[in-house]
Amino acid sequence: MQDSIFTKIVNREIPAEIVFEDDWYIVIKDIQPQAPVHLLVVPKKPIATLNDLDEDDAELVGAMFLLAKGVMSKLGYTDYRTVFNCGPGAQQSVFHLHLHVLAGRPFQWPPG
Ligand code: 5GP
Repeated sequence: MQDSIFTKIVNREIPAEIVFEDDWYIVIKDIQPQAPVHLLVVPKKPIATLNDLDEDDAELVGAMFLLAKGVMSKLGYTDYRTVFNCGPGAQQSVFHLHLHVLAGRPFQWPPG
């Protein structure tokens, strides 16, 4: 897999507003926020889509939700939306796994 935008952010080749980082994940502010808070939880392991996960990735993906919960708790939010877009038909545009975390406005259901 060619380096994605998110790998380039991890490698500091392009800038981003980084909210959290450790050896396995980076959490950044989305460049085109769809809510007052719009974060992306990104594993450093370059997995293209949800369809590319295998059994060994279960812990990696589970930890993405715990990370989202921890960051939102620190920001003072208990109500937020988490989204994985998978594939172009679901509006995935960056093919490096990421969890959207949105908060700070009312949300509708069903989503568009
Ligand atoms: P997707 O459409 O793949 O579900 O989500 C990709 C997200 O990455 C979009 O919400 C888009 O705004 C965001 N994004 C794309 N390029 C960049 C970038 O260079 N920096 C940051 N911080 N976010 C980006």
